[in-house]
Amino acid sequence: MSEYQMIINGQKVGSDATFPVINPATEEVAARCPKATEAHLEQAVAAARAAFPAWSARPGAERGAIIHQIGQAIEEHQAELVSLLTLEQGKPGTGFAGMGAAFEIGGTLAWCHAAADLELPVDVIQDNEEARIEVHRKPLGVVGSITPWNFPLMIAIWHVMPALRSGNTVVLKPSEYTPLTTLRFAEIINDLLPPGVFNVVTGDGSLGAAMTNHPDINKIVFTGSTATGKKIMQNASCNLKRLTLELGGNDAAIVLPDVDVAAIAPKVFATAMFNNGQTCAALKRLYVHEDIYEEMCDALVALANSVTTADGSTDPDFGPVQNKAQFAKVCAMADEARASGARFLTGGEPMPGPGYFYPVTIVADIADDTRLVREEPFGPILPVMKFSDVEDALRRANDSPSGLGGSVWSGDPQKAAALASRLECGTAWVNTHAMIQPDAPFGGSKESGIGVEFGRYGLEEYTNIQTVYISKT
Ligand code: NAD
Repeated sequence: MSEYQMIINGQKVGSDATFPVINPATEEVAARCPKATEAHLEQAVAAARAAFPAWSARPGAERGAIIHQIGQAIEEHQAELVSLLTLEQGKPGTGFAGMGAAFEIGGTLAWCHAAADLELPVDVIQDNEEARIEVHRKPLGVVGSITPWNFPLMIAIWHVMPALRSGNTVVLKPSEYTPLTTLRFAEIINDLLPPGVFNVVTGDGSLGAAMTNHPDINKIVFTGSTATGKKIMQNASCNLKRLTLELGGNDAAIVLPDVDVAAIAPKVFATAMFNNGQTCAALKRLYVHEDIYEEMCDALVALANSVTTADGSTDPDFGPVQNKAQFAKVCAMADEARASGARFLTGGEPMPGPGYFYPVTIVADIADDTRLVREEPFGPILPVMKFSDVEDALRRANDSPSGLGGSVWSGDPQKAAALASRLECGTAWVNTHAMIQPDAPFGGSKESGIGVEFGRYGLEEYTNIQTVYISKT
């Protein structure tokens, strides 16, 4: 079994205590990871604090050049990182529609290089005989990054690269379910950065909570559940930490009767089942007009029946659900929906173990107050609801505490865009869903989060404004 170590102040660091990382396809221990102590966290924060003055003083272009080198290093170790992702997360290498572990590493590379090229130019808002007023963007100090288990490496890159690019130093804590790819990544890039600029500590939620309480961490960037996001917000008040919170979603999609069902069904299916449904902005509630309801259900069932779910190392379409607790949640939500009278068109029962395997499941005629509709299942199960009046569909789509993304599907994109703009969410898509790219801001409204990531907008969240007022009188 491979030895994994944390990276603190440029050094590989172990711990007397360790915790197991489970392969979700076999339920066997894939590796053991160091469990950070309070002292480890103190060392990591102190190292990041000490590294901050020199790192933040470097010209932005120099930091960008190093981030490009980090991208190159990831590329050189691509095959190894893909295998490691399959081992700990469960996702296949290629997977359905080519959206498996290799896709995650591809995204990691794209976001890394894009972050390297971002800039924070000074904004001159006045320059006349009275005064010149400039708006500068200053790094915050030490950024604490806390990541989830669904896209372990890509989300780490989303947090860390803009933080570094804008001159901050970082302490990262990956999910205790999927720390291996992040630890290996940190080891691979360790020589490229000065000691202390990027530190990784491993442990469970209590370590995350200690970070959010730490007086020497200036900002927390967190991707994970809304419940944890709320706890982080409370703790962050200790020193008025800046926050970017990318939280849960329960995205609705409205399908109007003028669509070509055969043409859109594969896209709807792919965006609902992306990463086995374990995607924050996956399509999670499908509202279909009554005229095309049965046709859409039939098309989705045909797709569901054509895919394979198995151990990710055999490269099926989909792997297991990532962990036991999430698997139990998916099973319970399906059972509850069945008990309430919903019609299961395919799937609906866990597959024989070992491994947390659940088949792709399509559920029709399900009541709006069912838990499977009210809450995100974060698994391969899609509820399909019928509507007759589009205003009613919009009201039902917006009747959720979540507001990450939403979409409208129609043969008339203009009409769809007008409707989509009335969805209460951070990203409104037309004739697609869950499409993101490095230069377009992404974030949630309502309880799906605070702030945005990506591009110039995302970069600015790692800075404070400093207004420079130069009097000329
Ligand atoms: P989670 O909230 O259980 O855990 C996420 C991270 O927070 C882990 O590293 C965990 O150890 C840590 N943590 C747990 N308790 C903590 C505490 N009290 N203080 C600080 N840190 C703590 O979430 P998860 O189960 O890993 O991820 C799934 C959730 O993440 C889903 O709800 C999903 O929608 C959401 N998600 C959102 C986005 C987005 O961009 N909006 C992206 C991916 C996942």
